[in-house]
Amino acid sequence: MRILVVGGGMGGTIFANHLARRIHHEMKTGKARITMLSASHEHVYQPGWLYVAMGRATPDELVREQQSLLEPGIEFHVDPVEEFHLAHNHVKCKSGKVHEYDLIVISTGSRPMPENIPGLKENSVNCYTAENAVEYYKQLSEFKGGRIVVTVGLPHKCPMIPLEVTFAMYDFIKDRGLLDKTEFYYTYPIGRVHSLENVAKWAAPEFDAKGIKYETLFNMKEVDGKNAKVISEEGSEVAYDLLVAVPPHKGQEVIEKNGLGENGWIPTNRHSLHMEGEHGKNVIVLGDTTNLPISKAGSTAHFEAETAAENVAAVVKMGRPVKSYDGKVFCFIEAGKDRATYAMFNYQNPPQPKAPTGAVHAFKMAYNKLYWATARGLL
Ligand SMILES: Cc1cc2nc3c(=O)[nH]c(=O)nc-3n(C[C@H](O)[C@H](O)[C@H](O)COP(=O)(O)OP(=O)(O)OC[C@H]3O[C@@H](n4cnc5c(N)ncnc54)[C@H](O)[C@@H]3O)c2cc1C
Repeated sequence: MRILVVGGGMGGTIFANHLARRIHHEMKTGKARITMLSASHEHVYQPGWLYVAMGRATPDELVREQQSLLEPGIEFHVDPVEEFHLAHNHVKCKSGKVHEYDLIVISTGSRPMPENIPGLKENSVNCYTAENAVEYYKQLSEFKGGRIVVTVGLPHKCPMIPLEVTFAMYDFIKDRGLLDKTEFYYTYPIGRVHSLENVAKWAAPEFDAKGIKYETLFNMKEVDGKNAKVISEEGSEVAYDLLVAVPPHKGQEVIEKNGLGENGWIPTNRHSLHMEGEHGKNVIVLGDTTNLPISKAGSTAHFEAETAAENVAAVVKMGRPVKSYDGKVFCFIEAGKDRATYAMFNYQNPPQPKAPTGAVHAFKMAYNKLYWATARGLL
C-alpha cells in the first residue's frame, strides 16, 4: 500500500511516525510505503510563540529539521502539493513531480488572516508567526502604560490563546512594575469570555480578581489606526494603546483552489476522519484542515493522528479499521507565568477546568520540551 502524507506539521508527522512503527515489517518487506510531502524542511512547535512574545523563549528553540523527526523508512520531500487529483489517486507538486497513492492523508494546517479585518494587520501585534511574536515582545517591552486591548477574530487557531495572552501579559506588566499604569481590556465575540462554557465560568472570576475588564459580544469589524480604536460589528468602539490580536484563520489556499473545501476546511467524517463525499474513501484528513466543530489545536491533530495511524495499520494488516475518533482534545491553559490548568473534552463530555496550580504549569513547561518526543510518535 502506498501511503502519501501531505503536510509535515503536527498531524502529518505524528501520524506518519506512529504508522511507521506499527507497520515496520510491512515497510521492510515492500508491502507498504510511506511518503511525506511538505512545504518546509522545518517543523515548528507553534504553541511556543506565546513564550517568545513574553520574552521566555527564542524562535530557534521551537524549530527542528523535519527529516530528523521521522522514523527511518519514511521518504520525505520538501515539495508542496499544488494539485490534488483525488479521482485519479495522485497529486502534482510545485516541482512538477507527480506522486501516486493508494491512501492519502491531508494535514496542511491553516494560515492566520489578520488582513481579513481592515486595519488589524497594520495596527496590532500577535503571536501567530515567529516574526510577529518577536515584534509583540518588542512592543510589550517598550510599553510604558495605558490600555492593552485583546481582540479576537473568528474562527481562530488554539482555543485558549485569548485567555493565555491576557494572563501572560498581566504577569509581564506586573513584573515590570506597570500594573498601576495599565488597564487590561479583553473582548470576545460571543456572550461570555470563552466559547467553552465551563472555561468561561472558570476564567471570568480570574479576570475579576485581577481587575481585567471585559466586553463580550464584540465582533471585530475594523481597526481605526489613526485614532487608535477598534470597532465592533455591534457598534462599540474601544480605544487602545497596545492592540493584541488573535487573528482569524483559514485553511490553506491549495485546499480551496482544488475545490476540496470552503475556506480551506475539508468536510470530514467526525469518527472515521475520512473526507466526506465521492472520493473520500481513501482520503484521511487531520488537524486544522478538517471542518470538524472542535478546537483547532495541536492536541486535536495528535489524537486524530494516533487514531488514524492505528486504523491504517489495521487496514494494512487485517483489511479493516479498528478505531473511531471520539473528539478528544486536551488543552493546557496558562493562567500567567507560574500557574496553569487544563481543559480535557470530547464530542460528548465538556471540559471541567479546575483551579490553576504551579504543578500543572510545570507540566506544561516540561511538555514544551517533550513535544519533540510526541512528534516522533513516542508520547
Ligand atoms: C500561538 C499558538 C499557540 C498554540 N498553542 C497551542 C496549545 O497550547 N495547545 C495545542 O494543542 N495547540 C496549540 N496551537 C495550535 C497548533 O499549533 C495547531 O493546531 C497544530 O499545529 C495543527 O497541526 P496541523 O498538522 O493541522 O498543521 P501544522 O502543524 O500547521 O502543519 C501544517 C503542515 O503542512 C505543510 N503544508 C502546507 N501547505 C502544504 C502543501 N501545499 N503541500 C504540502 N505541505 C504543506 C506545512 O509546511 C506544515 O508542515 C497553537 C498555535 C499557535 C499559532
